[in-house]
Amino acid sequence: MNRLEQLDKEYVWHPFTQMKDWNDQPQKVIAAANGIKLIDTEGNEYYDGVSSLWVNIHGHRKKEIDEAIIEQLSKAAHTTMLGLASIPAAELAKELVEVTPNGLEKVFFSDDGSTAVEVAVKMAFQYWQHKGKPGKQKFISLEQAYHGDTLGTVSVGGIDLFHRVFKPLLFDPVHIPSPSCYHCQLGSDQNTCGMPCIAVLEKVLAEHHEEIAGLVIEPLVQAAAGMLMSPPGYLAKVRELTKKYEVLLIADEVATGFGRTGKMFACENEAVSPDLMTLSKGITGGYMPLAATLTTNEIYNAFLGDYDEKKTFYHGHSYTGNQLACAAALANLRIFREEKVIEGLKDKIAAAKEKLSQIRKLKHVGDARQCGLIIGIELIETQEKKVPYPWKAAMGAKVCLYARKYGLIIRPVGDVLVFMPPLASTVQEIQTMLQIIKRSIKEVTEEQLCAAQVQPTDL
Ligand SMILES: *Cc1c(COP(=O)(O)O)cnc(C)c1O
Repeated sequence: MNRLEQLDKEYVWHPFTQMKDWNDQPQKVIAAANGIKLIDTEGNEYYDGVSSLWVNIHGHRKKEIDEAIIEQLSKAAHTTMLGLASIPAAELAKELVEVTPNGLEKVFFSDDGSTAVEVAVKMAFQYWQHKGKPGKQKFISLEQAYHGDTLGTVSVGGIDLFHRVFKPLLFDPVHIPSPSCYHCQLGSDQNTCGMPCIAVLEKVLAEHHEEIAGLVIEPLVQAAAGMLMSPPGYLAKVRELTKKYEVLLIADEVATGFGRTGKMFACENEAVSPDLMTLSKGITGGYMPLAATLTTNEIYNAFLGDYDEKKTFYHGHSYTGNQLACAAALANLRIFREEKVIEGLKDKIAAAKEKLSQIRKLKHVGDARQCGLIIGIELIETQEKKVPYPWKAAMGAKVCLYARKYGLIIRPVGDVLVFMPPLASTVQEIQTMLQIIKRSIKEVTEEQLCAAQVQPTDL
């Protein structure tokens, strides 16, 4: 074990990690990154198959973002937004309003996805207090939802494994079924589906809308749940119904934003304009922590009033609107424009689709889902009746560990392999990464090889 791995194991507590397992196993220490590759302290290179967990867009060490941060550094790294404005925050707010769906006119900055959603939930709640409907206090959210790790966002979350232990500290949302077609619990067939999941929502809204402030949703893809995808038209229906019943729609685009679904934002796929939209992960191209909650003039205006009316939104963070982060975000958006990133995605998405159709045929692949460059491959013990592997087998984790031997970093969510490469990956790189995934699944599930049996010469 090298010194850095030792330091890590002695002092660091990793997120979402059983530290007993972490400390028992060899770990990689990343020393550098370049393009879509990560390089460890031993000099091994790996494809960054999860975009450093969704955040990276244009690759690492992207010249334009490096330079934008260095230039900003020569002016100011950070100044408070409490009582002061800043150049990059003002410029960025204008650009975010321009690129997001119509109707979103104001930008509230924070630091990460969790705080962006926390802000949206609190804004929605306080909005109804100001509008003279103080009974609207509850939130609708989806089963399997993930909106972050602060207590407010865990409250609207629905992943039992993560959230159960904190239950006594949380407020209760009204849960509606996850619209994931592969796992449909409403007995619906995807091909002839009349979306019974929408009927459930309509019933909840019809009965309870007077108590409901907002509905929080990850549009198109429930990411952390294992890339669960909703049927086409679901999101548009949710928008229609929330409008009809006067419930604010909060679109949590923390994962889906910035090109992931093939459009700049997932909402665009169904021509949806939410009342609040949360952004983070890809916002700085993977460089700095930054988040934004966008909202309408209607909501913003409800908070205006004389000082002594105390209608202020009392919320903010020390690093809100950090100048370096805003400069990185401006460079990120500039690259989207100048390199026509969205236009360039078409061929990449098609190449992934092609490869996935091969992967779907593997004996132990139950489902291979794709939305743009968001991919989920669900492993299964037997196809018939969709029998999963026993939890203890940790099959997803095994395949991911194995893929490292072939030079790819991916992560499991249970037995779903999640793959979301940087948008900058070329068609060929996407094919190569998916080929590694295919080979790893086959060798682990059919030949029962483990990572230790692969020689580095096989790379
Ligand atoms: C990751 C994620 C969050 C939380 O973002 P953090 O930056 O990790 O706090 C919130 N919502 C969605 C949809 C996410 O994928």
